[in-house]
Amino acid sequence: MKRFVFSLVLAIIVSMSFIQAGSGDNDSQNKAHEAAKDTDIQACVSACGLPSDLDFSDRTFPIERSDQEWRTLLSEISYQVARKHKTEPPFQNPYFDNKELGYYACVGCEAPLFSSLDKYDSGTGWPSFSQAIDDRLVAQQVDNSFGMRRIEVHCALCGSHQGHLFPDGPKPNFTRFCINSASLKFVPAASKALLRTAILEWYQTEKNLAQ
Ligand code: FE
Repeated sequence: MKRFVFSLVLAIIVSMSFIQAGSGDNDSQNKAHEAAKDTDIQACVSACGLPSDLDFSDRTFPIERSDQEWRTLLSEISYQVARKHKTEPPFQNPYFDNKELGYYACVGCEAPLFSSLDKYDSGTGWPSFSQAIDDRLVAQQVDNSFGMRRIEVHCALCGSHQGHLFPDGPKPNFTRFCINSASLKFVPAASKALLRTAILEWYQTEKNLAQ
C-alpha cells in the first residue's frame, strides 16, 4: 500500500503535466473524431443507458469492503450502480446539469476522479467529462455485454463502477466519460486555485488509502 501511495504522490505533477501536454491534435485522433461525429446520438444514449455486465467479485482493489459494508456506506442507488454495475436514468440524476466549480469524487472512496473544468453538456442526460483528473485512478475494462463493445470505467482504488468511455467527446482528446451521478460525490470549490489545492491535498493524505 505504501508503495502505491508513494507512486501516486511522486507522479502527480508529472500526471498534471501529461494532461496538459497530451492535448495535441494528430491525424489518427482527427479521423476517429470524424467517425464519431457520424454516430447517432440516440445510439450513444442507448449505449450509455445499458448496464455493465462485468463482474469484479473475483478481483481485489487497494480498498476492499464487504458487501454488508458497501450496503451500509452507500445509498441504494449508489450501491446498485457502483457495486452492481447498474445505470441510473438519464436527466433524473443530481449532477448531469450541475455547473458548479469543484471536483467529483468516487462515491465509494472519495478519490478525486473528475473535475468540473472538464465537464460538458453532451446532451445524453448523464454527467459527461472530456478527461479524468488522473488516468491511473479511472481504470478501464472492455465490456462486451449486450452485443456491443464498450469500455467500462471504474475507480482503480475501490472498484466502484463509474460508467463508460466513448470516442465522441470534444477536442482535443475526443473522449467522453459518460458517468453515473450515483457513483460520484461532488466536492464544491470556491475558485480554480482552491480546486487544484483540494485535489493535491487528497494525494498528500494517506488516510484516504488506508481504509
Ligand atoms: Fe473509489
